[in-house]
Amino acid sequence: MTPVETLRGQSIAVFGLGGSGISTVRALVEGGAEVTVWDDNVVARERAAHAGYRLVDLARADWKGFRLFVLSPGVPLTNPTPHWTVKLANAAGVPIVGDIELFSRERAARAPEAPFVAITGTNGKSTTTALIAHVLREAGRDVALGGNIGTPVLDLSPPANARTHVIECSSYQIDLAPSLAPSVGLLINVTPDHLDRHGDLARYAGIKERLAARSEIALVGVDDEICRDIYARLKERGGARRVEAISGAESPIADIFVSRRRVIARSESEPVVDLDDARALRGAHNAQNAAFACGAARVLGVKREQIVRAFGSFPGLAHRMEEVACAGRVLFINDSKATNADAAEKALLSFHDIHWICGGRPKEGGIESLRPLFARVAKAYLIGEATEEFAHTLDKAVPFEPCETLQAAIAAATHDAMGSKAREPVVLLSPACASFDQFANFEARGNVFRAAVAELLNRRHAAAEPTIGGGA
Ligand code: ADP
Repeated sequence: MTPVETLRGQSIAVFGLGGSGISTVRALVEGGAEVTVWDDNVVARERAAHAGYRLVDLARADWKGFRLFVLSPGVPLTNPTPHWTVKLANAAGVPIVGDIELFSRERAARAPEAPFVAITGTNGKSTTTALIAHVLREAGRDVALGGNIGTPVLDLSPPANARTHVIECSSYQIDLAPSLAPSVGLLINVTPDHLDRHGDLARYAGIKERLAARSEIALVGVDDEICRDIYARLKERGGARRVEAISGAESPIADIFVSRRRVIARSESEPVVDLDDARALRGAHNAQNAAFACGAARVLGVKREQIVRAFGSFPGLAHRMEEVACAGRVLFINDSKATNADAAEKALLSFHDIHWICGGRPKEGGIESLRPLFARVAKAYLIGEATEEFAHTLDKAVPFEPCETLQAAIAAATHDAMGSKAREPVVLLSPACASFDQFANFEARGNVFRAAVAELLNRRHAAAEPTIGGGA
């Protein structure tokens, strides 16, 4: 844990008592602040009371007494409308911040030179963050990995010169962190998303730009128009700040880019790493993530051989094109995180001869946008509420089979893939749908896929093995 010692003796209000909220409260209390907590949710309040924290209904509190107000990133600061606590804090002139801000202040006070890598972007944040942490660990560094992925930032060990913090930042967290100033800041890409919470694209992009603009070394993507503009602005502004352009393709302006699956640094003759040796980084989208991770590793002084070795052993993240099994020529891929057509597109683009398990609770537009990729699909296996709609879209273009449940779909897809003559048939769960009609969340759906595949392969294996001592 990183106790927040910069606020010792101060009166702080905290709203939102989920994972990161409770972590913030613990760190504030440990550092000696006087903390008042509240949540709209009764269960969260009871949990906090049970842990011994001081609950005060912030609707009735005297806000003039608070020095700072810490808001959970899940609570609306601006859009669609500011939360009621935000209005009260603003009326009383109390600054509103989040846990990344508290971490940034601690770092500035204790170890301003401590390596701090902050990663943001619309897509690829978690993969890039995990990959950078993996590369640094494999190179023998002490790494603290967290933020928007896994462990809340204040639950991590404190910043120190010999420790590198690798922190994923959502836009909400950046919005609540005015003094965020990482040593290395990554802005991967910006595409319209989460606009419900940020109002408009300009504001959303502006929040992300701030992370890059405040970094000592900024790595900025140049594969989308918004980021290209941000890169040009930062470059033009110049100053002491170093700015590098990163691309997942063959961009002429990029300092680090990818050509024929090889990550290349423009300043060097030899490629940094060959992505064909990194099984967990399939697909064009992962080329972008890989280029960023190489960029970060290089500015942090990791040697080329170490990067190559670490890319080869990167296990990838669960539920994101995760290879869960390989039986003979058949690959089994869990991409349960693909809850919409855009995400499923990335997976379909990454394979051929696909036995595609899709469906669940459909999103607007369904899978119509994926039509150009239907030629890659050998057959589709439909589950959940989307069955009828998807069958209609696939009709005449792709053979399909309504399977209702994931288990039935896995059995049918495995049977067909095992009998396929293709070079590398793939059983792919990439649902292009929310999971809530049949599962608690996409993780539960992915876990069922992983377990069911393992069980099915075990059964097939057992059936194929002659029983010892058996027979006539
Ligand atoms: P995030 O943390 O930003 O949500 P993840 O690394 O968890 O991103 O990846 C989630 C999904 O987003 C992946 O399964 C893939 O479909 C897609 N994705 C990953 N990286 C990228 C990228 N660089 N560009 C576009 N889409 C991506």
